[in-house]
Amino acid sequence: MKNFDTSDCYTIQGKLALPYTYFAGRVGSKFTTTIRDKQKIMGVKCNTCNKVFVPPRQTCERCMEDIRDNWVELKNNGAVTNFTVVRYDDKHLPRKAPFILAMIRLDGADTPMTHILEGIDPEKVQEGLKVKAVFARQTTNTILDIDHFEPIE
Ligand SMILES: [Zn+2]
Repeated sequence: MKNFDTSDCYTIQGKLALPYTYFAGRVGSKFTTTIRDKQKIMGVKCNTCNKVFVPPRQTCERCMEDIRDNWVELKNNGAVTNFTVVRYDDKHLPRKAPFILAMIRLDGADTPMTHILEGIDPEKVQEGLKVKAVFARQTTNTILDIDHFEPIE
């Protein structure tokens, strides 16, 4: 193999900001607009295996059943199943670092959703911590209409 002279080659590091429009789909749209308009978190239930999915989805991952119309309302409470601490700033992140991103399984749900956890030091978070949703005062038409979760006292 021939050796190439790379002494006059260089690379430039860059970063792209890419505006986009994302269609949330029928199920994702109802999930988001119900949070926005009613401050309620909805999931879907599979009538074959009884699993409740939050965030909702169109099809049960186990049974492949179409579950898009099997809506169930969940409480705004849940428990942390896992978490991480984001320790770097990026203008696309929803908070200034450090902040906690937690996986939260709502009471009555079988799958966790990821969201921001506030009101507790990162060093004090543990799996099983009971938390509740705090809804945003102003809508952004996104999942951030749940502003964050916080510990239940
Ligand atoms: Zn199922």
